[in-house]
Amino acid sequence: MSLPPVLISEEAIRDRVAELGAQLSADYADKGNLVMIGVLKGSFIFLADLARRMSIPRTIEFIAVSSYGRGSKSTGAVRLVMDVRGNIEGRHVLIVEDIVDTGHTLKYLIGVLEAHRPASIRTCALLHKAESAEVDVDIDYVGFGIADEWVVGYGLDYAERDRTLPYIGIVTPDDR
Ligand code: 5GP
Repeated sequence: MSLPPVLISEEAIRDRVAELGAQLSADYADKGNLVMIGVLKGSFIFLADLARRMSIPRTIEFIAVSSYGRGSKSTGAVRLVMDVRGNIEGRHVLIVEDIVDTGHTLKYLIGVLEAHRPASIRTCALLHKAESAEVDVDIDYVGFGIADEWVVGYGLDYAERDRTLPYIGIVTPDDR
């Protein structure tokens, strides 16, 4: 089995994550302790790297939603598997997602987190498939825009495969 072809290299990811970290640190400089909420499982590597590239007080939380499994498209039906555990009421919140495709998941997550009554909610996604948008949802911080292809690595999987690849690769039809 060959490795997936490179779409975004390890170096390009590192540089962009550093830029996002600096931008977030500037934007939230005077806002107190930021709650960064990683969406499991795909965002765990991005969140770990991003959080370590920031210079402001920050807290890490996780939330988990059902994914739509083996390489298929979102139906729009998203289910909450694990809510945040810490109290985020009155706090500034940043949702950290691996990838936004149709936008259904992010829209659903914003609704779930709004119920916790945070001071604000912003969104950050490493990858955005802009052509695939089905719902209108704001992504405040985007790492890279990509075309509508199934990508793996840097936290993203294909049926649990390739999650720990150090780069973002493309799953070719032969690999499916
Ligand atoms: P949406 O609800 O925006 O359609 O989908 C968001 C979720 O779908 C992501 O959090 C991710 O779990 C999954 N997803 C969408 N596109 C891809 C992709 O190209 N690769 C992987 N590994 N997951 C994807």
